[in-house]
Amino acid sequence: MSQSLTPEQKRALAARVNYYRELGIYDFYRREVDVARAPSPADGEPAALETNTVINAPAVDLFAPPLPEKAAADPAEALRIIREDLGDCTRCKLHKLGRKQIVFGVGDPQAELMFVGEGPGADEDEQGEPFVGRAGQLLNKMIEAMGLKRQQVYIANVVKCRPPGNRTPERDETETCSPFLLRQIETIKPKAIVALGAVAAKALLQINASMGELRGRTYDFRGSRLFVTYHPAYLLRDPRQKGEAWKDLQQVMKFLGLKAPKRSD
Ligand code: SF4
Repeated sequence: MSQSLTPEQKRALAARVNYYRELGIYDFYRREVDVARAPSPADGEPAALETNTVINAPAVDLFAPPLPEKAAADPAEALRIIREDLGDCTRCKLHKLGRKQIVFGVGDPQAELMFVGEGPGADEDEQGEPFVGRAGQLLNKMIEAMGLKRQQVYIANVVKCRPPGNRTPERDETETCSPFLLRQIETIKPKAIVALGAVAAKALLQINASMGELRGRTYDFRGSRLFVTYHPAYLLRDPRQKGEAWKDLQQVMKFLGLKAPKRSD
């Protein structure tokens, strides 16, 4: 037996479907259920969003227009469109917690290697570019040690606005902002992604694990190979871990066929 959705449920369902589309999930399946057991708002459940709800397909626009950047001629243009779509974003509460500007991302739109951090700090908020402070200088050295230049990679964060006091981004903030990061990744199509720190790794992989569990293995991630290493800010606080981070980067170099530059001294 099918169940009709209320207008509110249809709007919620369409929003969820669009969210999945932004994550790159396009295939949906209808599943008939025992309606008597389906959750309802009275149960405190967002009924329209649960898998048990029967989708009344003709009433819901499951075929919304594709993401606007899909029509772009090249990745640079696609990134420009994503940035334009982000606009003067107020989608999560970070927009009203003291950010000066949105820090979108920087680098080669066709980079083979992408670094993903957690969120902008004070210097990044000031300059509008990720990883430009002390941690950024260390990241630049890490990139150079891999035989690359900063301009040859792409650098972005899970959240694009500075969390107040450099606190860790909260779950609702990472969930709201990360579809834009996923669209950047989808556009750039890097061969390798390095998640800098546990926050970035957990936000991308959607798993709850410690750095000890996350590091030292690789992950297939939306057509890219994902690696996890320490955030440069953490390495500044505990330089003893630099050797471990270098081991992680060597794994990435091996995967990409990169060779460390010869020392000139
Ligand atoms: Fe928008 Fe992301 Fe900034 Fe939140 S962090 S306001 S979602 S750009």
